[in-house]
Amino acid sequence: MAKLTVEDLPLEGKKVLMRVDFNVPIKDGVVGDDNRIVAALPTIKYVIDHGGRAILFSHLGRIKKEEDKPGLSLRPVAERLSNLLNKPVTFVPVTEGKQLEDAIDNMKNGDVLLVQNTRYEDVKDGEYVKRESGNDPELGKYWASLGDVFVNDAFGTAHRKHASNVGIATNMPGKAAAGYLMEKEIKFLGDAVDNPERPFVAILGGAKVSDKIGVIDNLLDKADKIIIGGGMAYTFYAAKGIKVGNSLVEKDKIDVAKQILDKAGDKLVLPIDNVVADKFNNDADTRVVEGDIDDGWMALDIGPKSVEEFKNVLKDAKTVVWNGPMGVFEMPNFAKGTLEIGKFLGTLTDATTIVGGGDSTAAVKELGVADKLTHISTGGGASLTYLEGNELPGIAAISDK
Ligand code: AMP
Repeated sequence: MAKLTVEDLPLEGKKVLMRVDFNVPIKDGVVGDDNRIVAALPTIKYVIDHGGRAILFSHLGRIKKEEDKPGLSLRPVAERLSNLLNKPVTFVPVTEGKQLEDAIDNMKNGDVLLVQNTRYEDVKDGEYVKRESGNDPELGKYWASLGDVFVNDAFGTAHRKHASNVGIATNMPGKAAAGYLMEKEIKFLGDAVDNPERPFVAILGGAKVSDKIGVIDNLLDKADKIIIGGGMAYTFYAAKGIKVGNSLVEKDKIDVAKQILDKAGDKLVLPIDNVVADKFNNDADTRVVEGDIDDGWMALDIGPKSVEEFKNVLKDAKTVVWNGPMGVFEMPNFAKGTLEIGKFLGTLTDATTIVGGGDSTAAVKELGVADKLTHISTGGGASLTYLEGNELPGIAAISDK
């Protein structure tokens, strides 16, 4: 990759500013799922093992008013990180000023310090000023002044232009590097999209066509086949004149769906049959129907013939990128399509299988197939932006090698 990585930086005795993604669920002051903290450990360990002083920045949730702040303090994360690293982590409850600067001055080689939630900067004196989220130039410059080098390991925010990623990096020309997690994401998603081993099959699902039009557009030129499942399939049904009953359809996207179908030819693979329900409920009456869906029924999962057809398309694939579930997987009675496809991907041992996007990641984890796949992206919005073929500002700002 043409970007600097953490291994290219001098670290011994250096104040190493690090943007990590510690945006984890916290309830009653305790961290829930700590996957994101665990995912950042290799880079943090590398930095401290090489004598760096790790100064960590992360956002947590969204802060729009003063009252949002107490519940979104990173203090519980510092505790969990300290347990995971098995060493003390200094938590600084502010994002700027003497207390932070003194704490940094007191650090020794190998120490770890976590700065308060960067989005505390979004609200000042009760006003929503978005200094972090709006990439306030002074803020990026100030944070950059606190360190010697910068490591960005927060892929999950790479599609955003914030002071703590783009701001710091642009103020540290030649000294801003990617961490291991960022490097891995760029490698897998980048290779899949720009240099895939073929056949390259994309599986797109989830609720809305509108969220994925950019991805379909970009992948139509790059993938050999695009499988469409989930709620978005029925807007394509409507575009083809197939009856959709009460299924999810974005009426204002039917024309776009028609254009995509025209352009795609036989590249696009739609479900043949569906599990339809008489209401949006796990206990609904259901049946499997092929083609037209009658009024009063809504498609909530792909049917068994679709699963077989999709497997058939996938079986020779060498690269698979999956974004979005095949049905309403949160309800057990409509999770089968997603589960079957996930399990099948797990058997494709000769292929690189990549899952990107929050809901599909949640789905493969919930369904227990995550460890059989090559790469599970940590960033929902960021991986979509990548699949759309758009530049991610957080990555663009990292120094070139
Ligand atoms: P997305 O965030 O776009 O990946 O969409 C994920 C959501 O799509 C999940 O919450 C699913 O329950 C929902 N979904 C998938 N298939 C359907 C469907 N056939 N009808 C309604 N919602 C669906």
